[in-house]
Amino acid sequence: MFIANWKMNGSQSMLSDWLEGVGKTLDKSLQKRCLLCPPVCFLSEASNIISKTNLNISLGAQNIDPNSFSSLTGGIDGAMLKSVGSEFVIIGHSERREVFKERDSLLSKKLISASENGLKVIFCIGESLRDKEENRTVKVLKQQLQTVKKVELNDFMIAYEPVWAIGSGTAATIDYIDKVHSEINDEVISYQKGGFLGVSYGGSVDSSSSKDILSIKGVQGLLIGGASLQYQEFCNIVLSNN
Ligand code: PEP
Repeated sequence: MFIANWKMNGSQSMLSDWLEGVGKTLDKSLQKRCLLCPPVCFLSEASNIISKTNLNISLGAQNIDPNSFSSLTGGIDGAMLKSVGSEFVIIGHSERREVFKERDSLLSKKLISASENGLKVIFCIGESLRDKEENRTVKVLKQQLQTVKKVELNDFMIAYEPVWAIGSGTAATIDYIDKVHSEINDEVISYQKGGFLGVSYGGSVDSSSSKDILSIKGVQGLLIGGASLQYQEFCNIVLSNN
């Protein structure tokens, strides 16, 4: 799966240009492997364009607020996300963990909400530079995965995103990704949970690094931030898989 995480970027015109460009560049079977996660305000429009122009691209949200917070100004719950065409939701991104101090207890509520509303999940995990330097990577990742272990989920993908690689311009090395993905795969498979879609890698992926990363056995997809904003570069990444 190729996940375009636009973060807090985009506009109506960028959305229509992007979808038109991806539709013209990728055939239907490749489109089927693409998941666009724009800011929530563009989901409805994205869904309309996708059905009007007969594209095969899926949509996801970048966040969900648990149902239990019904009196939450600004909140958007799983049913609302579904109603505007979202099939997936990203939970646990390092930016939300850091900026909004989202901890395991809240992430667990978000996972439950996604599950109750029939949303598939992209659950992000990743170690900080300090964790890496102090050889705590696997321990930290297994700790973050505990949240997934405890919750009943629909289909879900783990997105491994080393925090030190996100937005840095340099992806982790092939050896490093290979070793870490293998640890994550073994750990999640041991939970024996149905619906595990595999582990994707995220962190400064672009079309110059995507082919090598995708050739790693334990990599089932890519989560792409900055490089997903230009449809040509996003399509080059998808095409590098062939
Ligand atoms: C991300 O937003 O999760 C991400 C991987 O960003 P970038 O590709 O820009 O490093």
